[in-house]
Amino acid sequence: MTTTPLPNPLGVHALVWVGDTGDAAIDTAVAKTAAAGFDLLELSLHDLDHLDVARTRSALESAGLQVACSRGLAFDADVSSDDASVVARGARLLEESLAATVGLGGRIFTGALYSALGKYGRPVTTRGRANAVAVIRDVARAARRDGVTLGIEICNRYETNVVNTAVQALELVEDIGEDNVTVHLDTYHMNIEENDMTGPVLAVAERLGYVHIGENHRGYLGSGHIDFTAFFHTLARVGYRGPITFESFSSAVVAPCLSADLAVWRNLWDNGERLARHARAFIANHLAACAPETIDVAS
Ligand code: MN
Repeated sequence: MTTTPLPNPLGVHALVWVGDTGDAAIDTAVAKTAAAGFDLLELSLHDLDHLDVARTRSALESAGLQVACSRGLAFDADVSSDDASVVARGARLLEESLAATVGLGGRIFTGALYSALGKYGRPVTTRGRANAVAVIRDVARAARRDGVTLGIEICNRYETNVVNTAVQALELVEDIGEDNVTVHLDTYHMNIEENDMTGPVLAVAERLGYVHIGENHRGYLGSGHIDFTAFFHTLARVGYRGPITFESFSSAVVAPCLSADLAVWRNLWDNGERLARHARAFIANHLAACAPETIDVAS
């Protein structure tokens, strides 16, 4: 009988392998991503000063890997601030990150592009949200000229006060009003904020541009309580064909700043290779289970 390849490119976050984006770390991340059978490497752009963009692009291309870039902003460089100088610094970070994405040959720039990554002590203000909308609209227009799609990653309440649910993300995307701005769902955040694993996927539907797969504790897939069967079946139902990237963090691999922003305090695994191979098989098998006997999990 005829089988078809997996419907989605499968990715892995670089933090499964390495904590920084220096030359040696990039070489390790690229080699291990390819060896574990993934199609795409996600690079966090939180340390642009130590990322050699041209060299990294060449390493990715040699390995035949796609790249997606992600980041959150910072409290002193935050487009959702009321303070114009803080907003301007946030806008500059987004512009630099977009330039790096283009330089790397990436087509997706996603994450908490609309705020800092951290716990806010108050709700976002009307003015702050309007600032985020205006800046992201400008970044989206620049991104379109470079063939890049932006992702609005929905993060939980302890990491942002701007977008915690799919409904809020759709409202933000609507207000930005640019068709290269998509919604990015992450099962780890959904577990905290949403009613279930199906409603948000159905609500976002064709605006879905990127997916993070993570357990409720961000460790081994299947070792927690997230209903991945429901989630993958709903992805299939809406016909999602974009990247699906495994995201997992442990104190075994530490990125200066980012690990603290994400509250990675615990050791959930030591062996990134073992973890990533398990995750790829887990995701491929869930995709295949949505179309039994037609999808070839090896491709
Ligand atoms: Mn995520």
